Amino acid sequence: MIHTALARKYRPTRFADLVGQPHVAAGLRGAVAHNRVAHAYLLTGPRGVGKTTAARILAMALNCSRRADREGEPCGDCESCSRIWSGLANLDVVEIDAASNRGVDDARDLRERAMYAASAPDRFKVYIVDEAHMLTREAWNALLKILEEPPPSVVFVFATTEPQKIANAAAPVLSRVQRFDFRRISSPVIKERLGEVVGSEGIDAEDDALALIARSADGGMRDALSLLDQVVAFGQGVVTLDQVNETLGLAGDDLYVELIGIVAERRTADVFPFVARVVDAGVDLGGFVHGTGLLLRGLLEVLMGGVPDMSSSLRSALQERSQKFSSGDVLRMIRLLSEAEGVIKNSPNARLYVETLILQWTLLDKTVELQDLIERLGAVEGRRERRTGEGEGSAGRGTASVDRPHSVTPLNRSTSSGRLPISEQSLTLQHLFEVWEKVLQEVGSSSRMLREALVHAKPQQVGEGELVLGVGDGDVHLEGLQRGSTHIAEAIFRVTGSEVKIKFVIQDDGGTASAPVEAARLDEKTDKEERLKAYRAKDKALDAAAEALDLELME
Ligand SMILES: [Zn+2]
Repeated sequence: MIHTALARKYRPTRFADLVGQPHVAAGLRGAVAHNRVAHAYLLTGPRGVGKTTAARILAMALNCSRRADREGEPCGDCESCSRIWSGLANLDVVEIDAASNRGVDDARDLRERAMYAASAPDRFKVYIVDEAHMLTREAWNALLKILEEPPPSVVFVFATTEPQKIANAAAPVLSRVQRFDFRRISSPVIKERLGEVVGSEGIDAEDDALALIARSADGGMRDALSLLDQVVAFGQGVVTLDQVNETLGLAGDDLYVELIGIVAERRTADVFPFVARVVDAGVDLGGFVHGTGLLLRGLLEVLMGGVPDMSSSLRSALQERSQKFSSGDVLRMIRLLSEAEGVIKNSPNARLYVETLILQWTLLDKTVELQDLIERLGAVEGRRERRTGEGEGSAGRGTASVDRPHSVTPLNRSTSSGRLPISEQSLTLQHLFEVWEKVLQEVGSSSRMLREALVHAKPQQVGEGELVLGVGDGDVHLEGLQRGSTHIAEAIFRVTGSEVKIKFVIQDDGGTASAPVEAARLDEKTDKEERLKAYRAKDKALDAAAEALDLELME
């Protein structure tokens, strides 16, 4: 079988066949049909999207003997059309590659050459300058002179991937050219065209295989057809997804499906064996990492409720696992990927970086969960502490309550480093009354005198890390208490796990009020709170509901 390159065989011969560039096709065909062809065109756009092809079709159309009856389209069959299309030597169409040295010489020579008219009165002389951004400033200056007084029937077509460079080097030229911007061709459009090509070639091709070729071509039809060519040659006439992956040196879908599983289930132990299999399969690691980027993009799209453009097996794998990821997870994974990508490309340690990257992905969620857990613990313990205190209140002044703060506080203190709300928020007056004996004991164990003084003081108010102790009017112990306030605070911390600063106020009634309710009455708000807590303590159902719904009870 004599193999003709598909990209060449299926190169369009008519404006109507220019895939994905309808605005360009309509513009150029209309100009030809209505004899309004400009002297110079600038065709811009990424590589492989049809710029040079469009220029050739324009040259064909202008010189086709049968163009009149085709509404601006070339016939594609006449001798002129055939010669131009196949790039054979032609008096009237000159193709210049500005990227080559010869191209620069040609461009210098252009002015002189442009003086020669077309070979026949009804023909056009067309100069097609590829990679036009490579022309030198002198070349542009020469061209500008021509364009200021263009010879009749001479048309310049400049094609470039980098119009900005032309704007920088030869801004005045831009005002004398008609510009058409070519677009990257969408992968569904490329895929459709590939379908037509395999259809007319009688080639069997899997749908997913064509879709992957279309995506890999990155918007260029020429690259897509070249890829298809390679795969057809490789697979001896059949095009499967596996063959496309292998031809492109890409990891097969099965590897990506496995990767999703490993990351979703945080199977850290499987990371190294997995990367070993990727390497053994001869997969290019740079390409693999690029592929994982597309995978994450797809995952994000699924999480946003979209349908990603990927093979059906990958798509369903993503849909199946998506609930294991939050979009925040995926964004963090993408950030790690982008950090790793640059390093991986040219590193002899590429494999290590890929392993580390995937390992980070599997661990990432745990670090986040841990942080989340710590924060939640802070909140939950706060609630529980309040509740437990009341429970004990109703069950009598339980001595067991002493253990509780110790079990809670170390976690908060060691993990929060002051960032999380710690338990002084949950220290209540009632709880303090319950453990006050214990506080006295603690104080007494280091100073009997201070204990004696503290007996004359009563907790009045607690909140925001501050405890107000009421001392009897003119109490002789006040000074001693103030001096010992640090020791008292330490004792309270040892008993309750809460850090408080101690403030003393003078009480009129001599500080004899000792019942919790009486003391609490001094602050109406505290009073209300205490009563609500008492309700909750009495009513287990109410308490459970408040806990479950995270309610702040209102009176
Ligand atoms: Zn023709």
